[in-house]
Amino acid sequence: MAQTSPMQSSRQPMTEPRWVPGVFRRFRRTGRPTAVIHCTQEIPCNPCEEACPHGAIRIGPRISRRPILNRNKCTGCGLCIPVCPGLAIRVIDRTYSSEYARVKIPHEFLPTPTRGDYVTVQDGAGKRLCAARVLDVINPSRNDRTAVVDLAVPQALANEAMSIALAGKGGRWIQQP
Ligand code: SF4
Ligand code: SF4
Repeated sequence: MAQTSPMQSSRQPMTEPRWVPGVFRRFRRTGRPTAVIHCTQEIPCNPCEEACPHGAIRIGPRISRRPILNRNKCTGCGLCIPVCPGLAIRVIDRTYSSEYARVKIPHEFLPTPTRGDYVTVQDGAGKRLCAARVLDVINPSRNDRTAVVDLAVPQALANEAMSIALAGKGGRWIQQP
């Protein structure tokens, strides 16, 4: 099977979140890790609501409604990230350092990066943004093969960082920039 190079992702581009009204509902920076939900379609779906142990995500009985996040309740635990079939949830922590934010991104393709790797971060349209160091990978069996990749992303690009590009030939990630 043909490999996808680091500069040619075959991943389906997601909608650019900044351009979709109502997606970042009342989005604002917080002083702690917080989920960011960019669920753009009104489809019957609510595992994110069921997965949140803090009741921070509300969809309600009409499950085709888009989820509403209560940021006062959200702890940034990230348990909602791997359950979303649309890969539509991230957690952003802007307190990591003055230069970098921590962005937890779902990743369901193989290979899975490991701590210390450098990967290429993409925006919602599949445009390459920057290299990012992998701080951690959370991939227990309950995630059902959707890894949560914890990245150090420049603060200015944290909102746009939506996915990571597939590894290049031989499953190698990019070299340290
Ligand atoms: S990050 Fe944790 S607390 Fe926040 S919405 Fe997701 S599951 Fe709930
Ligand atoms: S699980 Fe994902 S796709 Fe489904 S409602 Fe929640 S955010 Fe939207």
